[in-house]
Amino acid sequence: MLLQLGRSLAAPHREVILSSCMELGYAVRFLDEAQRLLQLDGPGAPGHRAQLTDLTGVVRVVDEGEPHELALRDGDHAEDSMIPVGNARFGAGNLSLIAGPCAVEDEERLEEIARGVLRRGAWLLRAGAFKPRTSPYSFQGIGVEGLEILDRVKAATGIGVVTEVLDPRDVERVNETADMIQVGARNMANFPLLVELGQLSTPVLLKRGFGATVEELLGAAEYILAEGNRSVILCERGVRGFDSVTRHMLDVGAIAYLKKTTHLPVIVDPSHAAGRSDLVRPLARAGIAAGADGLLVEVHPHPEEVHSDGAQAVSLPSFERIVEDIATLAALDGRRLVRSGSPPASSLHPGSGSSLDHQN
Ligand code: PEP
Ligand code: MN
Repeated sequence: MLLQLGRSLAAPHREVILSSCMELGYAVRFLDEAQRLLQLDGPGAPGHRAQLTDLTGVVRVVDEGEPHELALRDGDHAEDSMIPVGNARFGAGNLSLIAGPCAVEDEERLEEIARGVLRRGAWLLRAGAFKPRTSPYSFQGIGVEGLEILDRVKAATGIGVVTEVLDPRDVERVNETADMIQVGARNMANFPLLVELGQLSTPVLLKRGFGATVEELLGAAEYILAEGNRSVILCERGVRGFDSVTRHMLDVGAIAYLKKTTHLPVIVDPSHAAGRSDLVRPLARAGIAAGADGLLVEVHPHPEEVHSDGAQAVSLPSFERIVEDIATLAALDGRRLVRSGSPPASSLHPGSGSSLDHQN
């Protein structure tokens, strides 16, 4: 690793930097007379870069060296990770679909939606029992009752369940219901929550905060990975832009960048980016074309009934068209949409099957 130190650094600060590096197991030597470039040799470990960047007098880490943080592609982990969630498969050339209403509301309607999306290709139903809302006066979800409804719908239909947790105190109960636990945009930097989820083996769907940089998203993923849970799927859902024609600005470049930088699967949520149902399909296509390993899309046959995000919910027939688009786009890249009704992709090996070249 190579550190750049500040100009005219006071001797005590330099001493602290040197002793901190040595405590972390590095041999240190300056590469220049002005003592601004410090070469560190040693085994290194995830987290060292962040610890060293925090020291007074360290301007930046010029060359990270090895090993990289756990989320990043490196010598040990150059290939895509493939993360199975029930029958769904994300990454390494496999795409899967997550669909459903924004929130758990009426049980019969939820079961109808579950059957509808399962028939059209989605192995996973997403619906929130706990909803993070901008205003405390807005509908907050129906809580544990919603989890019980999800349990029954799952038992009745066989679909897998993705649902959000907001509070570390609810992790245990949500984990009983969920095949994958969602961390929403507003909680991306809720570090105690991420640490709690890191202690599970249940996959985590980590959505990018709408004001968060890609580096911050990767840092949030690192909190989960460092605790031992290696099943993290990243989700681009749009960032706050200056234009209100869409609810958020879908950052397609972030998807392409993440696919190069991290081995973790990356999916796209076109619904919260668009904020309107008529733009969900083109944004879904753009996300997949940029390399996303799957889709999270809000679907509801009667959006006028719902308490949250009705304007962006697509109908079941629209969802079907989106699924066909995704299957076609995946095939163009030599990838495969793992859809309900087709055999699960357990025969595909992690690291194989993708012709997208993420290394260049
Ligand atoms: C959601 O997925 O329904 C949601 C609230 O999304 P986000 O956290 O991305 O705003
Ligand atoms: Mn929503």
